[in-house]
Amino acid sequence: MPKLTIHIDQVKCVGAGSCVLAAPEVFDQREEDGIVILLMENPPEHLTASVKKAARLCPALAIILEEK
Ligand code: SF4
Repeated sequence: MPKLTIHIDQVKCVGAGSCVLAAPEVFDQREEDGIVILLMENPPEHLTASVKKAARLCPALAIILEEK
């Protein structure tokens, strides 16, 4: 199985929070402005589907996934 690595772009992030709803184990938001916080860069396999969903839902395209 390819290993998934997550990159986030906090500059692009608009704090919409869709990623947190889709994968709360992986994404959180800063208390003060809602900007995304990455809780784990290499999520375990059982979270792959929800991480991909989060990336798909992000309106700012601030979640970049790398598979290798
Ligand atoms: S869904 Fe995208 S814009 Fe919204 S908080 Fe997550 S990374 Fe930021």
